[in-house]
This record gives sequence, structure tokens and C-alpha cells, in this order.
Amino acid sequence: MTDSGPTTGPSLRRTWSVAVAILMAAVLGLGVLAGAAVQYQRSAFEQTTNEFEAMSLLGIGIEDAIQNATASALVAMFTPPGSASFDEVWATYEESDARLRTVLALAGDRIEPGIGDETFLDEVSSTWDEIDVLVREAPDRWADGELGVDDVGLTSGLFGEVWTRVQAIRAAVSAGSEVSMTDLWQRAEETARVQRLILPAVVAAVSAGLAAALWSARRMRRRVVEPILALQLAAHDIGAGRGAGRIDVQHACAELEELATTLSASAQAITSSHAQLRDQAHTDALTGLPNRKAFIEDLAARLAAPAEGVGVLFVDLDDFKIVNDSMGHAAGDHLLRVVSQRLGSIVRDDELVARLGGDEFAVRVGGISAPAGAVAVAERVLGVLAEPIVIEGVPVTVGCSIGIAVSGRFGGVDGVDELMRNADFAMYIAKSQGKNRFEVFAASMHEEMLTRTDLSRDLARAVELDQLELHYQPIVDLTSLDVLGFEALVRWRHPARGLLAPGAFIEIAESTGDIVDIGAWVVDRACADLAELTDAVVGEEGGDGAERVAPWMSVNVSARQLGDELVDVVRDALGRHGVEPDHLVLEITESVATANNPNAVASLAALRDLGVHVALDDFGVGFSSLRQLQDLPVDVIKIDRAFVATAGAGPMIEAIISLGERLGLDVIAEGIEERDELERLRELGAVAGQGYLFARPAPREELEAARSGDHVTADG
Ligand code: C2E
Ligand code: MG
Ligand code: MG
Repeated sequence: MTDSGPTTGPSLRRTWSVAVAILMAAVLGLGVLAGAAVQYQRSAFEQTTNEFEAMSLLGIGIEDAIQNATASALVAMFTPPGSASFDEVWATYEESDARLRTVLALAGDRIEPGIGDETFLDEVSSTWDEIDVLVREAPDRWADGELGVDDVGLTSGLFGEVWTRVQAIRAAVSAGSEVSMTDLWQRAEETARVQRLILPAVVAAVSAGLAAALWSARRMRRRVVEPILALQLAAHDIGAGRGAGRIDVQHACAELEELATTLSASAQAITSSHAQLRDQAHTDALTGLPNRKAFIEDLAARLAAPAEGVGVLFVDLDDFKIVNDSMGHAAGDHLLRVVSQRLGSIVRDDELVARLGGDEFAVRVGGISAPAGAVAVAERVLGVLAEPIVIEGVPVTVGCSIGIAVSGRFGGVDGVDELMRNADFAMYIAKSQGKNRFEVFAASMHEEMLTRTDLSRDLARAVELDQLELHYQPIVDLTSLDVLGFEALVRWRHPARGLLAPGAFIEIAESTGDIVDIGAWVVDRACADLAELTDAVVGEEGGDGAERVAPWMSVNVSARQLGDELVDVVRDALGRHGVEPDHLVLEITESVATANNPNAVASLAALRDLGVHVALDDFGVGFSSLRQLQDLPVDVIKIDRAFVATAGAGPMIEAIISLGERLGLDVIAEGIEERDELERLRELGAVAGQGYLFARPAPREELEAARSGDHVTADG
């Protein structure tokens, strides 16, 4: 809800600024108008004042001009021509005559009808004309001596007339002035009235505008701005995955209220799908138990509370893979579900059972500071899994190996990783010590764990550094003791630890995947050595005079090797070393090769197509030997030493031998150590075998005495 998304219109802030600008413009406009009105009133007032002034001046002017004119007229009339001042007197007269006429003309323009009377002006003018005529005739009449006393009388009469008229004009003018004065006062009052009105009007308008603006601003804040902020916050919360709760837009306008409703609905949907996702992310889909993630989170939380001790049980089912592979995945799933129910039934409410993945489960027990509590839980787990589980009508018992690690046992502070790793390692020890048991992680295991870590690191470069060797154990005819073939057994000459047997590293190589490279090396070296062993015997005669038979070679193969790559490796090795395919036997342990592993079955079939033989190793000790014999492409059965060494296992051995005969398979007995074991096997009809009684595995160079066709001595 920030700056993303298209904007379709101006923002609220912009709209707001525009509104304020308009309001200010309106106030300014009103002010300007008021100013103009005041200005108008002032100019009108000034005009009236000017008029009044002009009128007064005019009144004074006429009177003054007439006084001057009549005075200079009298002087001019009675100044005899030729006298010393004559010209000066006449100039003065002309001047005052002209002035009077100008003033009269001016008055004629100024005095409006009704204020002054033009007829008075006309009469003054015509009387003055008469006087003027008399004055201008005066010099001639002086010369003729006609100017007399009568003239004086006439002139005085005319003067009187003019004067009277002038008085009338003055009266009219002053009357006009009075009118103007009244007018002026009226206007002044009007102006004052207008001015008195304009200011409050402007103030009222501005206040009303401001009040309206404030009101609408508050309304806008409550109905639009605040709801938008609330929506923004809610959207932010939704975006942050916090869930919005109820979005409070009580006073919002209808559109925003609608938006809030929509948003609440989406928020709810998002929150519930978040919760669902969180559940899914923490739950194992098959069993409904918490998964590894949930377990780790719980463990981290427990370890963060220092007062509490925490114990972790790593529970790994024994031989689950065999059930899964031989009875099918549905059976495997069913088994896992039953196991989870049983585990769930024996833990307390404050303990946690989780499925870590595959056939691995974990239990977290709390509130313990010594391993005793965890051990009690482990015993309950072993007990509850000892009960057979019925799958498709068949009762199946899966045991489990349990590793226990308890926090705070070695003084330091345990982290989640450390605790999990220790429990895992203790489980591995439990498994390697015979399965269906538990082990508590002890400080001594730490050394072993480090060894294992070191070994897995070193193993990655063992092939490259040429540290692997093959030892060969002869496989002999139990009657003639002739050597029939050899089993190749790998050894690792570790630079620091000396010669290591497969038991020390094959399982690690299988878990890291290095077994693929190691296995390829073994196949190649075994084929190379077989070629040399074959060359050495071809054409020779054996001790009994018969021609020696070319030996065959058995090579062990791990489950992880089964696949297209192995087929290529074998084909290459056979071709490169010129080995006949039917002289190579690949031994697979029965727990590994299963009919339900289509990849394994397919590659075994492909190998047999090459002409290579397949042997089922350690037959009889595993889970589903018979079933596998039926499903897998196999040529040889190797009877496990467990039967050979057990006196009472005769009937079993006999059964396996006759089974082999019925199926057309060769049978080889493994691990013959004692003479009486050999005798018993012979009596039971076994034809081939291997064991320390005849020869221990040895490097090829030491095999010279035990070449194919040679007799071995049965004295170990
Ligand atoms: P395996 O295939 O069953 O090999 C027979 C094992 O029994 C060998 O152990 C051999 O030394 C031992 N053995 C032979 N005769 C006797 C006897 O009379 N008494 C007793 N007690 N044991 C006898 P080794 O060499 O330690 O190999 C152990 C296992 O390691 C093999 O069992 C095989 O499963 C695996 N292995 C050996 N080499 C390879 C290899 O190259 N690749 C793979 N994947 N596994 C291998
Ligand atoms: Mg073997
Ligand atoms: Mg074996």
C-alpha cells in the first residue's frame, strides 16, 4: 500500500491544496472588490468637492470682474482723449472688459440651468454691451463736447442694472453652491455608509468561507482521510502477514466502508490460508505428526528456556526398507501410520513425537536433567513396537534402533544441531550393535563420531589417491577342493589408520554416495586381475593331469550402485580386459535387491543380458529371501555363515540346497571355518564353498598357490 500501483487521479493532498488555493483566491477577489468600491466612493466625493469649489470661485470671479470692469469703464469714459493717462486707462479698460467677457463665457459653460439662470447672464452680457458701446463712443463724444451729465446718469443706471444682475447671479451661484454642498454631504454620507457596510460584509464573507472550509476539512478528515489511513495500516498488516483483524472505518464514506468490507474479507481469507500453509509446513502429510521443521522449532524453543533439560530420542525403524520394497509402498505407508499412532500413544502431553522423514521418528522429552527419563521413554517405544503390526493379514514386527541425547550432560550449552547430531549418532551405534535397542550418546562416542567424519572426508579421495586394494578369497569345490573362482573383497589402505576392512567404510561410502566410484574401481580391478589369473592357467594342466578351467570372479555390489551406470561400467570393464561375461558374478545382498525396486530389477536384468551372473549374498538372514528368489533374476545363492556355523541349521541348509536345485541355481556356502562344518555341508549335499578353512582373503600376488584347478588344503 505504499508507492506501488497505478494512480488514477490526483492525490488527496493535491485536491486539498487546490481547494485552499481557490478559497484564498476568493478572499483576495472579495478584498479587491471592496477596495474598488471604496476607491469609487472617494473619487465621486472628490468630484463633488471640485465642483463646489469651482462654483464658489465662479461667483467670486464674476463679482470681481464686474467691479473691475465698471470701475475702469467709468475712468475710461471720463478721461478726455489726449490726456496723459488716456492710453493707460483704455488699456486697463480693454483688459477688464476682456476678463469680464471671459468670466461670463465661463459662467455660461459652468452654471447649469436650474442652478444659475442663463437669462441673468444674457441680460448682464447685453447690459454690459450697452455700457461698452457708451464707453467706446465716449472719446468721440468728448471730442464733439457731447459728453455730459446725462451720460453720467445713463451710465450709472446701466451700471446699477448690471450690478443688480450680478447680485442675482451671485445669489444664484451661491444657491447652486448650496445645492452642491448638500449634494456633497449626501455623497459623503453615502460613502461612509458604504464603507461601514463593506468591511463587515468582507469580514463576514471571509469568516463564513473559513468556517465552511474548516467544516468540510474536518468532515473530510473523519470520512475520508482517517478511514484511508486505517485501510492503509490494515493493508500493511495484511502484506506483512499479520492479519488485519477488524478494520475500523466507522465514520467513513460509503465507498470506503465498502472497500473496508472487501479488504476484511480478503484479509480473513489470507490469514486462514496462511494458517493452513503454516500447518502444512509443520505437518507430515502421511502420518499427521509434526514434521522435522516443527520438531526443530520446538526443540529450539525448549533449549532457549535454560531451566529445563531436554532429551531427544532418534527412532529409526529396523529393516523398514525391506517391508516397503517387498510388500509395496501402500503397506509401508500403513506401517508408518500405525507406528506413529503407537508412538503418539505413549508420550505425555508435554512431550512431542515427530516424523523426521522416511522411517525416522523423533521424540522430544522435557523436564529431565538426567537421561533416566529419556531411557524410560525409549523402553516404552521399544515395547510398543515389539507388538506385531498386521499388514494385509500378515503380522509384521518392525523393531527400531533408538539414539538418545540429553541436553546439558557435558557441561556446555547444547544447540539444536548438536543435540540432533548426537542423538543420530547414538542411533547409528545402536543400529551397528545389533538393532532393536537404544544407546545414550556418551562422551566416548564423540571420538567415534569424529572418526566417522574423518573417514567420510578421506574416503572421497581414496580412489583418486589409489588407496584401495582388492583381496581375493578362493571359492572351492567342497569335494575335490579345486579352486572354482574367487570373491573380490575390497580393502582401504588408509595413510594413518592402516588397512581397513569393508566393515569400517562401506556403510559410510554408501551413505555419502562414494560407493558408486569405489564400486566402479572394484569392478574394473577385479576384471583386470581375473584376466591375469585366467592367462596364467589357460593351457596348463592341473595337479590331476586334467586341463585347468578358467576361474570366475565374484564382485560385491551395493544397492546404490544398481542402475544404468553400473551396466556401462561392467560392459566397459569386460571389454577392456577381455573377460568372458559368464566368468563374472555380481553379488548383491538380499536386503538390497528387491522386486519392488524397479531400477534394481531392470539393471540386474540388463547385466544378465550381458551374460553376467548374479548371486544373492548372505542368503537366509534377511527378511524376504524366498520372495526375492522368485522375483529377481538370480543365478547363485550364497548361504550365510550364520547357517554354516550353527549346528542345528542342517535342515535349513538342506532346504536351501534343494531349492537351488529346483530353481537351477548354484549354491555356495560361506564362512566355512571348521573341518566339521565342511563335513556337515558335504553330507547335506553342498558342492561349493569358501572360508578361512581353505584360505583367507589375500592380495592377488599371494594367490599363486591357489590358482584355479589347484587343490587347497582344508586346514585353514
Ligand atoms: P560378504 O560379501 O559376505 O563377504 C564375505 C565376508 O566374510 C568377507 O568379509 C570375508 O572376509 C568374510 N569371510 C570369509 N571367510 C570367512 C570365514 O571363514 N569366517 C568368517 N567369520 N568370515 C569369513 P569382509 O572382507 O570383511 O567383507 C565384508 C563385507 O563387505 C562383504 O560381505 C561384502 O558384503 C562387503 N564388501 C566387501 N567388498 C566389497 C565391495 O567391493 N563392494 C561392496 N559393495 N561391498 C563389499
Ligand atoms: Mg559377498
Ligand atoms: Mg556373504
